[in-house]
Amino acid sequence: MAFDPSLLRPLFPILSQPAYEHPLTYLDNAATTQKPLAVLDAIQNYYRTGNANVHRGAHFLSDRATNQFEHARHTLAHFLQAPEQSHIIWTKGATEAINMVAYGLEHVLAKGDEILITSLEHHANLVPWQQLAFRTGARLRVLPLTSSGEWEAEFAHYFSDRTRIFAATQISNAIGTTTPMQTMLDLAKQQGAFTLVDGAQAVAHYPVNVSELDCDFYVFSGHKMYGPTGIGVLYGKQHALEVLIPYQTGGEMVRHVSHQATEFNVLPYRLEAGTPNIEGVIGLAAACDFLSAQDRSALLAWEQSLAHHVYTRLHKEGGIELHSPENSTTLVSLSVPNVHLLDLNAYLDSQGVAVRAGSHCAHPLMAQLGVSGTLRASFACYNTLKEADRFCDVLIDAIDLLNDE
Ligand code: PMP
Repeated sequence: MAFDPSLLRPLFPILSQPAYEHPLTYLDNAATTQKPLAVLDAIQNYYRTGNANVHRGAHFLSDRATNQFEHARHTLAHFLQAPEQSHIIWTKGATEAINMVAYGLEHVLAKGDEILITSLEHHANLVPWQQLAFRTGARLRVLPLTSSGEWEAEFAHYFSDRTRIFAATQISNAIGTTTPMQTMLDLAKQQGAFTLVDGAQAVAHYPVNVSELDCDFYVFSGHKMYGPTGIGVLYGKQHALEVLIPYQTGGEMVRHVSHQATEFNVLPYRLEAGTPNIEGVIGLAAACDFLSAQDRSALLAWEQSLAHHVYTRLHKEGGIELHSPENSTTLVSLSVPNVHLLDLNAYLDSQGVAVRAGSHCAHPLMAQLGVSGTLRASFACYNTLKEADRFCDVLIDAIDLLNDE
């Protein structure tokens, strides 16, 4: 059965408000998605009926909060097809998760070792590795992928016996390219490298199976998959998590402390210092339940059809440079020679159309494309064909109005 986004609209009341007297057309989902009522209710219910610190008190509310909190870990393990719930570490988001790994693996790197990333990375999956390379004398190498996700010639030699860490995104946030992840992971594993997959742009669209992917680490943020901000996940295999040196220490992550020494706790607590974001964890589990209740293949096909519809319409227009591949899963990224991106953005905004203009935290990729930035429309489960058309109509009006040629 075809996916019907109109059935989901009532679950997202934020979308029914006007923006400057126009219907709000929210197409900035790659930055953050809106949250369904189930997520809002879960957070409110937690504060109304279950607020207490977890793992600490021996009282009614503390037990209730702890049960909900650990049940959420179970939900996430199931959502990602992780073998054990202790392999799920709560973080603030993808950025913090990548930093935890980059700091935690510092001790395995020696001068001359290599950290390999791709040319499509978000700064969150670039800067932590670059800084790690600076600290250790390791070399940061960049696997050149074309903007359509294909290999440039002679790629295999980038994976060498010096490759200690390979970290790559599943989907580019800036241009929507899907990377050849399984092939890359296989090559990295043949060299015995630690592997990290940045799933920030994938989890809202694709069902994820970390066991099948067989990566050492998988990271994402809750707010890009209908969950709250300030919560994300670091999944890791047991041995990979155990190798990490905790980059934060303090309460919760310890078993016994004396003035002379500290015995760290077991996983997952060993990597979770301090009072966690309990409401975020509970909200994120509700977002997973929301996504799991959808027909995921029909949802993905719907989102792809929206991206494809916009791509095809704009392709027919003259003067628009499309930077996304034609089969992009979830977004369309473009620029218009002779028209400033921020002017386009401002015009779209004045008509209630929310998109994103800029470099999308991917300066090296923008340089590869030869642009200073792009205008990005990104889709989610609640977007309709009418909204996709409205974006195209308003964009075309804006170009007519602003083109100074
Ligand atoms: N990786 C990718 C591919 C992203 O799109 C983003 C967010 N734009 C991040 C990492 C960082 O996510 P966060 O800011 O939520 O930590």
